Formats: sequence, structure tokens, C-alpha cells
Amino acid sequence: MNSADGVGRWGEVDGSGGRHAVVVGGSLAGLLAAHVLAGYADRVTVVERDRFPDGTTPRPGVPQGRHPHVLLEGGQSALESLLPGFLAELRAAGAPRVGMPSDLVLWQSGRWHRRLPATTHIYTGSRAQLEELVRRRVLANPVISTVEGTDVVGLFGDASRLRGVLLRDRSGDARAEHRDLAADLVVDASGSGTKAPQWLTAIGAEAPHEETIDTGLAYASRVYRGRSGVLGGDTAGYYVYPSPDQVHAGGALPLEDGSHLVIVSGLRGDEPPTGDDEFVTYAKRLPHPLLHRWLDEAEPLSPAFGYRRTANVRRRYDLPGHRPAGFLATGDALCTFNPIYGQGMAVAALSAVALRDALADPRRTPTTRRVQRALLAASRQAWDISAGADRKMPGAVGNAVGGGPGDRVADWYLRRVQECYSGDPAVGRAFRSVLSLSAPVTALFAPPVARSVLFRPPAPTPTEPPTAPEQPGT
Ligand SMILES: Cc1cc2nc3c(=O)[nH]c(=O)nc-3n(C[C@H](O)[C@H](O)[C@H](O)COP(=O)(O)OP(=O)(O)OC[C@H]3O[C@@H](n4cnc5c(N)ncnc54)[C@H](O)[C@@H]3O)c2cc1C
Repeated sequence: MNSADGVGRWGEVDGSGGRHAVVVGGSLAGLLAAHVLAGYADRVTVVERDRFPDGTTPRPGVPQGRHPHVLLEGGQSALESLLPGFLAELRAAGAPRVGMPSDLVLWQSGRWHRRLPATTHIYTGSRAQLEELVRRRVLANPVISTVEGTDVVGLFGDASRLRGVLLRDRSGDARAEHRDLAADLVVDASGSGTKAPQWLTAIGAEAPHEETIDTGLAYASRVYRGRSGVLGGDTAGYYVYPSPDQVHAGGALPLEDGSHLVIVSGLRGDEPPTGDDEFVTYAKRLPHPLLHRWLDEAEPLSPAFGYRRTANVRRRYDLPGHRPAGFLATGDALCTFNPIYGQGMAVAALSAVALRDALADPRRTPTTRRVQRALLAASRQAWDISAGADRKMPGAVGNAVGGGPGDRVADWYLRRVQECYSGDPAVGRAFRSVLSLSAPVTALFAPPVARSVLFRPPAPTPTEPPTAPEQPGT
């Protein structure tokens, strides 16, 4: 790759004399990529299939918006660094900030978690609200414009250099003509259903190798208003994590308007139903009747919505292949995670930070390959977490299910970490910081953590759901 391939030194192929970047998809990854590119391009155009709603109505292009979306700490820091003041806006809009593990009743692998003082926080407000706040900030930049209600249906250029994208209005007329939109750089942020691999093949380039791990996990989610709080005033919500020995997961997480978004999930062949009564009955599969009892007296505010496309898929654009300069992929279009681990929005933000840093690096020309590698690196820890956990789930299929040679030792150590973290403050702090993408995996091997994990029996945990947080020092 030479400097002519640089995504930071664009040519003037659109004839307007200005450098033009096109972002496919105006959801979180696309908006945040556009925000970064606006610092380098003369014009950035976000092409979005939907028309953006006024306010926080869920939109068809992001059907996952009906389901719980937690924003992990790694994503919070990344968003704040991209859009200073964002977290204050999120709080001002009412998004609940939930302390972990203090504010939730949590169950995992046969244990209730102690409600130790919080070492990390998550935001649990609706995805639509979060996206709307990001959209408002990003689209205020006059360098960025949108083309809404329009599909990208292909690329043009050739296998060595991209020239732009092909667009089609979503007017409903299948015979509607394609039109060209010239671009010096195209960023695919069209989500997990991306068609970019096919678009690349159509211009004579190579599709990326895809790694897949699919547990067949399915969600059903429904909004409720509790009549008595989940477990009293000190408890923001409840969550049962899935594990190989407890494949059903579920819980209730608070939304910005005081209601709760309730989720139940199960694996292939035992997917949760969306019928009113069946949804409630399904909650009986959880290892404790707590959620089922709460649902019995809570008021449903929405129908239940299902979601089944939850495979981990990583598209290896970073590996060598005959692909054009000027094409990048980010967000779910690059790496989609099983959503049960709550990582995708955080990775979208971390990827935008990686894009910013790669473009700003004075030591290296930001070639397409180099920037793409930086984007993939931003998702690596999240991939290791979700792929590592899902490999062990019963019935997982896909070409990346088999682990590498070192995985047996790592699996053993991680199993010990999981046994210890619900009751041990030091192990809990380290594990939560890794899961929330705010510390590297090496935090699990720090001496005080390793000592507990290797040499001490797991600390005792509550025998019943703990109804109140523990006070510091108790
Ligand atoms: C059920 C579920 C629950 C989740 N829970 C969490 C969670 O708790 N925490 C978390 O951080 N993440 C979660 N995620 C992941 C999160 O939703 C995504 O990672 C996040 O939205 C970023 O995705 P994205 O912007 O890459 O793609 P998306 O949000 O999927 O957006 C893609 C956009 O591209 C548009 N588009 C698609 N094709 C075209 C086209 N051809 N032309 C023009 N526009 C197009 C779509 O309309 C859409 O706006 C969850 C996902 C699912 C499925």
C-alpha cells in the first residue's frame, strides 16, 4: 500500500474540488464515524435507509431498538471524548445510571452476586434516546449532511479504487433508477445485515473472510411499569446472565421514564414467545421466581417483540485481499456481537475513537488497510469476550467455534474468575472493568486478583436475592 491509498489524503474525484466521504447508515457507528471524518473532509454525507424520526420513536432500520441497550463504561468514555459533555446530556435526559453490582440483583452460574459498592456504572435508557442525542450533536455540524429514505445498493469504481456508491430512493418503486454519489472514501456502517461483501464482489474485489459463532440465542422484550419497584426502593433492576448450565437469561432494566424493559432469552429450539401470557410464563424458566412474580403484578405497556439474529460475526477486512482503497467498514458491519453482552454501542464509539486516532497519527500515513486494522483492533476485546463465552454454550455453531491451542488454560482461569467474582471485591472489580471494556484483559492477571483466583476458595455469596446494597466497609 502506498500513500496514494491514504484515506486521509483524498483525491478530488467528485469533480467539486472537495474531499467527500460517504457513510452508509446513520445509526450510532455511522454518525460517530461521520463526526470524526468531518475533521478531515470538506463534505461528509450520511446515507440512511430510514427517515430520522423527530424525538425518540424507534425506527424500522434498527429493530433492535425495542430491546434493552446498556451503555458500558468503555463506551461512555469514548462517547465523552468524541462529544464532550455527552454524558451530562444523557443524564439530563433521564437515562438511568446504574451502579454495578450495587444497584442490581444479579444471578450468574448458580450464584447471587453480593451487592458490593459500585465499581462501574451502566446507562440503561432506551437506545432510541441515546441515538437521538448523538444524532442531534453530530448533525449540527454543517460539514455533515444526510440523504434520508435512501438505500445504498452498491459501489462503483474498481477493485483498486472506490469512486462512490449507488443509491436508490425508497419510494416503493422497484424500477426506480439508481443514481451515483461520488466519494473519495466510503465507510460501511450499515449494521449486521450489511451487503458490502456482495457489493465488493460486484466490482471485482474480494469479500472479506467471515468468522461466525452462533448460539441461536433469541430475545423477547416488553415494557412494563412495576407496581412495587422490582425489589423495593434500593433496587434498580434484576438480571440473570446466561451460562452453559443456565441457558435461559432475563431481567428487568430501568428506562428513562420510570418503566422497565423486561427481557427473556433462550437458545435455538426454545426461543421465547411474544404472546402476552406465554411471555410471562416463559419467565418461569429462570432459576428464581423473582421476575415471574414481579411480572404478575406489573402493568404491560407494550407488546412483546422478538429478535433472533444474534450471531457473532467478524468480517476480516484487515486481512490481505484484493480490495479497493477508500473503503472502510465499522460498527456492526465490521463486527457484530451476540447482544447479550451489551457491547455493540460501546464498540461503535471505541471504533470512532480509533478512526480519529489513526487519521491523526503524525507518524503513519493512514492507508485504508492501516485504518481498517485500527478499527478491527477497537473491537478485539469485545470479540474475545463474546466469542470466548459463546464457544462454550451448548449448540453453538459456526466456523470460529473451535478455539485456539491456548484456550484450554485461559478457559480454566476464566472459569475460576467467574466462580470468584460474585463474592470477591477485588476479582469483581477487575472482571467488571474488563467486561465493561474500560480495562484490558490483563487486569484479570494483576497479583491481588490472581492470588484470589488461584489460591482462595470462592468467597461466600448470598443464598437469596439480596434486597439492598451492602454499605462500604461492611
Ligand atoms: C437485540 C439487540 C440488543 C442489543 N443490546 C445492546 C446493548 O445492550 N448494548 C450495546 O452496546 N449494544 C447492543 N446491541 C448492539 C447495538 O444495537 C449496535 O451495535 C449499535 O446500534 C451500533 O450498530 P451500527 O450503527 O453499526 O448498526 P445499526 O444500529 O444496526 O444501524 C445500521 C443503520 O444502517 C442503515 N442501513 C442499513 N442498510 C442500509 C443501506 N443499504 N443503505 C442505507 N442505510 C442502510 C439502517 O437503517 C440503520 O440505521 C444490541 C443489538 C441487538 C440486535
